[in-house]
Amino acid sequence: MSQNKRNRDKYIDENDVAENEVVEDLQSLDIDGGDEEEDVAAVEEIDFQGSAKPPKRPHRTMGPVAAAVVTVLVALIVVALGAGAWWMWRFHWRSVDVNVDGETVSARADTTIARFLDDHDDFGRTRGRLLSLKGKVLDKDGGDPVAVSVNGTTVPAADYGTTTIADAETMTVTPGKDVTEAHTSEQRTTKYGTDINLNNGPIQVVTQQGEDGEQEVWIGKRSKEEIVHKEIKPAKKLTVQSFAPQPAGKKVIALTFDDGPSQYTEPILDILRQKKVKATFFDLGEEALAYPKLEQRMVKEGHQVASHSVSHPYMPDMSRDDLRKEILTGFADLKEASDTKTRVLRAPYGAFGVQQWKDTADIVDMNVLWSIDTLDWKRPGKKAIHDEVLKNAYNGAIALMHDGGGDRTQDIEALPGIIDDLKKQGYSFVTIDELCEMGGVPKPAQGKD
Ligand SMILES: [Zn+2]
Repeated sequence: MSQNKRNRDKYIDENDVAENEVVEDLQSLDIDGGDEEEDVAAVEEIDFQGSAKPPKRPHRTMGPVAAAVVTVLVALIVVALGAGAWWMWRFHWRSVDVNVDGETVSARADTTIARFLDDHDDFGRTRGRLLSLKGKVLDKDGGDPVAVSVNGTTVPAADYGTTTIADAETMTVTPGKDVTEAHTSEQRTTKYGTDINLNNGPIQVVTQQGEDGEQEVWIGKRSKEEIVHKEIKPAKKLTVQSFAPQPAGKKVIALTFDDGPSQYTEPILDILRQKKVKATFFDLGEEALAYPKLEQRMVKEGHQVASHSVSHPYMPDMSRDDLRKEILTGFADLKEASDTKTRVLRAPYGAFGVQQWKDTADIVDMNVLWSIDTLDWKRPGKKAIHDEVLKNAYNGAIALMHDGGGDRTQDIEALPGIIDDLKKQGYSFVTIDELCEMGGVPKPAQGKD
């Protein structure tokens, strides 16, 4: 034992002794003050009018109405407490058995559906997924929560946190639905495409003008994916088709003359008039302006006049602007020379491809090639020219000859025999317009110019 402890104990012992002495002192004191007589006298001063008890207050009995009120109040309180207890039991404390898809699951009545699902891991049902506009999974749990119906009524997911299972008898839990991400929407113009097929015959016709479309495009807010939600106005393809008309039940042939007019045109017109044959002339604008009288005669005598450009360029080498100018000027020259309105072209060398159609489809109705090439420009002799036509003639054939661009004497010499011998074979002669009409070639779909 340390010296301090010993000192402390000693101190306590001494204090205990002192305390006992104080108690004894108190017990020896006369608490009453030691003067009995004085006390009695003091009591006797109070006048109880001879009674040892204090006077009773006047007794007031409760009236029958008040008693009834009190009784009712008490009853109400009892009922209220009972009802409160019942309510608490019914909606909070009670244990509820819920039949969840055939399995009985118990929980306190005040368990919310959210909690109930949480406590049972959604009963093994999967949540919906969050999908991108194109159907890619962005979040495998990001869709709707599992779907719950209580006693046959679907509970909105927004109410899961506030709806308790107190009234639930049966509950169905089904997997949540997938949800597609939010999106923004834009209206966009779509450029028209083309459908140009030049391989089915010598007559190429614009059957549909290209037209831009309008689309409503959705852009996924999360994925940034874009989808076409709606075709507001579908784009229309520029469509050029080619035809080889062979009029049913007929035996027709179209004679065509290029590169004129020139000094050789007049004798050709004379032969045609004499033989009562109609032909088609694909004329150069600059020559039409040089020989307007011949142009006018062609028209007057019932031949078809169409354009062969202004000055015979190779069109695939031309820019879009130059090409359009060449073609429009060629048409305008014919209009000026003979008041001919045409949008029918025969491209020089027949060179007119997909690109040229894309560049000019709104100003050209038709490009006319040929099916019999007489090769007259090689000046092979009138017999060769004649034989080339006769050998290859068929119903609907288009024969290519020339009335300009060089010495066309052999054409003039060959022409009467060609016509006579075709007639002997039963052919009649048609213009390109007539051939198309007879052969069922669709009317051109003209562009706005
Ligand atoms: Zn030519």
